[in-house]
Amino acid sequence: MYNEIALFAEKCGATVIKDAPMKKYTSFRCGGNASVLVIPNSVDCLKQIIDFCNSKSIKPLIIGNGSNLLVTDNGINGVVIKIGSDISKIELLDETTIRCEAGASLKSLCMFALENSLSGLEFAYGIPGTLGGAVYMNAGAYGGEMKDVLISTTHIDSNGDFGELTQENLNLIYRGSAYTDNDYIIVSAVMKLKKADKKDIKEAMDDKLQRRKDKQPLEYGSAGSTFKRPTGYFAGALIEQSGLKGYTVGGAQVSEKHAGFVINKNNATSTDVINLIRDVQRIVYEKHGVMLETEVKIIGE
Ligand SMILES: Cc1cc2nc3c(=O)[nH]c(=O)nc-3n(C[C@H](O)[C@H](O)[C@H](O)COP(=O)(O)OP(=O)(O)OC[C@H]3O[C@@H](n4cnc5c(N)ncnc54)[C@H](O)[C@@H]3O)c2cc1C
Repeated sequence: MYNEIALFAEKCGATVIKDAPMKKYTSFRCGGNASVLVIPNSVDCLKQIIDFCNSKSIKPLIIGNGSNLLVTDNGINGVVIKIGSDISKIELLDETTIRCEAGASLKSLCMFALENSLSGLEFAYGIPGTLGGAVYMNAGAYGGEMKDVLISTTHIDSNGDFGELTQENLNLIYRGSAYTDNDYIIVSAVMKLKKADKKDIKEAMDDKLQRRKDKQPLEYGSAGSTFKRPTGYFAGALIEQSGLKGYTVGGAQVSEKHAGFVINKNNATSTDVINLIRDVQRIVYEKHGVMLETEVKIIGE
């Protein structure tokens, strides 16, 4: 069955990788293989592949840059579709409105905003995901989030039809959106920004990036903050106060630099990471009565 999809996707012009090592496609850099990884070369190609998958009753897993994912060591018995740089057009609709395709990196989106003297996306500079992943997660940092700028999105729904959601029905909440529940495929988004001085925008972007470099263990594989912020607390502080900074399971470690990050310190398996996450959840709960919920999405067999 997956062979048929691989053949069809190749005919559409997609890049197809069979038995794809997901450690190459996720920022945690661990985990098993996916039966087939497909990288469509256009929205039209994506749509054709989705229609074909639907006709075979196969539900593919959509990924962007894999920067919020942990794939289990047994991998993914199925089709993974990566929305990448071939679906990444960014354009101005008017003086302050940007339309961006899902596979564009947040970095290129932020640079486009800067070039056009548009402010509002500075918070996202340094988040290593795609626009699609950022909409799905309502990514945010330093007091900003996608919710502040999003006006509307287009998607392919589960029947393979194109549709649109607007700000009112995007249900943007802390690290979630309507897409978290419906699993549609985000194709593009429209964002409203504000005209501002280029120098000020650049300064704000550089400041955010520097703060990341100073505080985050960027030299190791990770998915950023492993846990969501529990109401009234900070996950990193709870973990540190529980004496877990540097806590290690196999090759996985609670970062010594930032306790909110679980890192791939030394060739970790995903099982190491998952066991460490469970230990942290248990110990923090025993010490503080707070159950930490993972922000990273754990997927696979
Ligand atoms: C070092 C580091 C720092 C980070 N800092 C932050 C931060 O400050 N703030 C923050 O919010 N996050 C942060 N993250 C996490 C991550 O970068 C964000 O969640 C990002 O938005 C994920 O985008 P992605 O393209 O990598 O999505 P992926 O990890 O590939 O996917 C994430 C989820 O989105 C879904 N998805 C992706 N693309 C689409 C699409 N086109 N259509 C439908 N569903 C889709 C996937 O199915 C999956 O469920 C950080 C990660 C790292 C490694």
